[in-house]
Amino acid sequence: MVSLCFAPELWLFLRKRHRREPVRAVHDGTASLGHLVQSLGVPLTEVGSLEVAGRRVGQDHRPRGGDLVRVTPVPRPQRAPSSCFLLDVHLGALARRLRLLGVDTAYRNDLDDDELVVRANAERRILLTKDRGLLCRRALWLGAYVRGSGPDEQLADVLERFAPPLAPWSRCTACNGLLVPVAKQEVEVLLRPGTRRTYDSFARCRACGHVYWDGAHHRHLETIVAAALGDSGRSEGGN
Ligand SMILES: [Zn+2]
Repeated sequence: MVSLCFAPELWLFLRKRHRREPVRAVHDGTASLGHLVQSLGVPLTEVGSLEVAGRRVGQDHRPRGGDLVRVTPVPRPQRAPSSCFLLDVHLGALARRLRLLGVDTAYRNDLDDDELVVRANAERRILLTKDRGLLCRRALWLGAYVRGSGPDEQLADVLERFAPPLAPWSRCTACNGLLVPVAKQEVEVLLRPGTRRTYDSFARCRACGHVYWDGAHHRHLETIVAAALGDSGRSEGGN
């Protein structure tokens, strides 16, 4: 038997009966500690450190009978080698929020799990998902479980965990392309008369051509940006 003591931050991954007391797990002497942790439902992407008798060990460590293992959560903010993300198909609303804040966020609603792993690895993007099975894939270079049931909670979780650099209103929320300022006369023909009369400052997505204009953002979007910047009194800075 090996006993594993999980920090409370990791309890959401454990069965209820495993939460308060150290988990006693049977092991055959050959499985690695990483395998044992994941078999209890905790993806290694969420684990900060593993300690046996006060000594830090790696995921490949083979525990011995009687060992007490302490499992801590990944530190926040997590130092990650990338601040670009790929979101799984269920996180479209979160993708739009991250783009609104200028975070490089790839998202498509038609990628299967294999394609998600391939793309995350190829583009060195952190895969964000609520699918623990996906996070446990050995081939995945870096991923993270997204906490929270709604996009606002999920956004707060991602910002707290990775503290990515923010540049609100700099990306297209539809396609993740970068926005560049554009003269009014260049886009005038695309605008409704009311917009043409009311606004003078415009930006266009370099990737998909979508046109944005200052001041027309829904108040809810401004609230999201203000909350993310941690300054509810600051108004949006335009495109
Ligand atoms: Zn675009």
